[in-house]
Amino acid sequence: MQFEKIYLDEKAERDSISKTILKALPNVPMETIQDKRSLIKQFSSMSDPIGIGKRILLITHFYGRRLKPCPGTSNHICCGYYVINGITNCPMDCSYCVLQGYLNNPFLTLYTNWDDLLQEIDAFLSTDRQSLLRLGTGELSDSLALEPIFPLSQFLIPFFSEKRNGVLELKTKSVNVGSLLDLDHRGKTVVSWSVNPPKMIEEEEKGTVLLKDRIDAARKCQEKGYLLGFHFDPIIYHEGWEREYEEAILQLFKQIDPGRVVWISLGGFRYPPKLKAIAEERFPRTNVFLGELFPGRDGKFRYLKEIRVEIYQKMTRWLREVDPGLFVYLCMESKEVWEKVFGWTPENSRHLNQMFEKRVRGFLKE
Ligand code: SF4
Repeated sequence: MQFEKIYLDEKAERDSISKTILKALPNVPMETIQDKRSLIKQFSSMSDPIGIGKRILLITHFYGRRLKPCPGTSNHICCGYYVINGITNCPMDCSYCVLQGYLNNPFLTLYTNWDDLLQEIDAFLSTDRQSLLRLGTGELSDSLALEPIFPLSQFLIPFFSEKRNGVLELKTKSVNVGSLLDLDHRGKTVVSWSVNPPKMIEEEEKGTVLLKDRIDAARKCQEKGYLLGFHFDPIIYHEGWEREYEEAILQLFKQIDPGRVVWISLGGFRYPPKLKAIAEERFPRTNVFLGELFPGRDGKFRYLKEIRVEIYQKMTRWLREVDPGLFVYLCMESKEVWEKVFGWTPENSRHLNQMFEKRVRGFLKE
C-alpha cells in the first residue's frame, strides 16, 4: 500500500490508534487539520476523486450511528445482516465497486473513536438477546485490507468472542490474517473471502490478491478454528464463465474443508445506474458492462432473470457436488428466482435470518 498523505483531524489526535497508524507509516507526510468538510469538498471537485482518495488517509472521528441494517434492495429478499462502518473507501480498486458512485467523502477514512463504536454495538446487541445477529465490517471497505496499520479486527474479534448473541463477519480480498491467527475468537467470528476466477481477478480486481493466495489465507484461518464464508459475488457472465467458475470452486475446495464453511453467497453482477459512466471512465478496458443488463424494480441493472437462474443453478450444482451440505444463499434476489434455483423460497427476510441462526448455532454447539 502506497499512501501519499495523511490528514489527521485534530479531534483524533490524542487517540492511541491514531498514534499506531502514524507509527506504521513513518515516511508518509502528515498534516493536522481542523476542518475536514472543506478538505473533502476541495478533493471531491477534482477529477477521479475516488482514485485519488484511495492514496490519502483521513484519520478522524465518526459522529452518529455506525451500525446499520444492510441496505439490501427493495423488492428482494434480504438476509437480515447488519453493517459496521469503521472505515470508508478501500485501498483496492475493483472496476465494478459500487463505492465509486456512492461515497461523498473520497478519502480512505479511518474512524478512531473505537470506544464509541464498541458501546454502540454492545447497546444494539442488548436490545435483542434471543436472536443471533450477524454483523460485518465489509460494506464500505474491505474488512482486512488495512489491518496492518488499522487493526480494528483485533479489537472486534475479542469483543465478539464474549457476546452470546452476535457473530462478526470479516469479508476480504486480502491475505491480512496474520494478526488474527492467535486471537481467542471462540467461534464467534466468520472470516470470509470474495471469490472470482483468476482471469476476473486479474482483469477487474486491481490491487487485490490472487485466488490461490486468498485460499491459502482462508486455510490458515481454518486451521485456527475460524468458521469460513465465501462470496461468489459479483459473478460476471461472459464467454467461458462456466469453466472458469467451476475450476475456481474446485481449486477452493482442494484446500478448504467444506465442513467448516458456514455460508456461501451467490450474486450476479448488478449495479446502480450511475456506476457505469464512472467505472468506464476509470477503467476503460473493463468488460463487466459488456453483457446485456436491464434495470430491475429497484432501479439496479442486472442480467436477465433466465440468465441469473442459469448461473445460480449451475453454481449451486457445482458446490453441492463438492458437499451437499453446503449452505448456499442468494444475495439480493427475488422470491421467484429463489424458487427457480432451489425449489423453495424463504417466506421473508426474518425466515432467512432464522436459517442463518440455526446454521451458526449448529457450528457453535460442536
Ligand atoms: S475490495 Fe471491495 S470495497 Fe475494495 S474496491 Fe473491491 S469491491 Fe470495492
